Amino acid sequence: MAIRSILHYPDPRLRQKAAPVTEITPEIKQLVEDMAETMYAAPGVGLAATQIGEPHRVFLVDIAGEDEPSKLHVFINPEIVKTEGEQCAPEGCLSFPGISEEIKRASKVTVKAIGIDGKPFQLEAEGLLAVAVQHENDHLEGVLMIDKMGMLKKRIVQRKMQKRGGVDEDRA
Ligand code: ZN
Repeated sequence: MAIRSILHYPDPRLRQKAAPVTEITPEIKQLVEDMAETMYAAPGVGLAATQIGEPHRVFLVDIAGEDEPSKLHVFINPEIVKTEGEQCAPEGCLSFPGISEEIKRASKVTVKAIGIDGKPFQLEAEGLLAVAVQHENDHLEGVLMIDKMGMLKKRIVQRKMQKRGGVDEDRA
């Protein structure tokens, strides 16, 4: 296992669309292990493979609080098949360190995916889990939380990220 470095906005690799996983090879299993270690070390509640520069359709979510036992969900080739309602909650992202902004999302989602055991499953999620699933699923499409913000918030977040040493995405 290895902790991988997480790409920060506006790294252009965060805009890559991830490709479907055709087979759960030892490399994919290794990728999932590395992602789990990286996510827990950060710490974060979710991580998509694209955030470590691996354009595969894989993301992990674990929304357990500090005092709760961890519950790792591994989603391979995920697909959100149903969305319901609306919620607006502050979100963070390991690719936007130090940023927390309210983002509008569906309040409930149904997601289909393949687990690390190769078996398909379906999960109904609401609340924070639904937010995390939508956020991580967006990463696989190259969509970032900044894309869900209004112009003003977007500029503020871009400035903050520039100050951290990044460059403007338009010029990257
Ligand atoms: Zn993120």
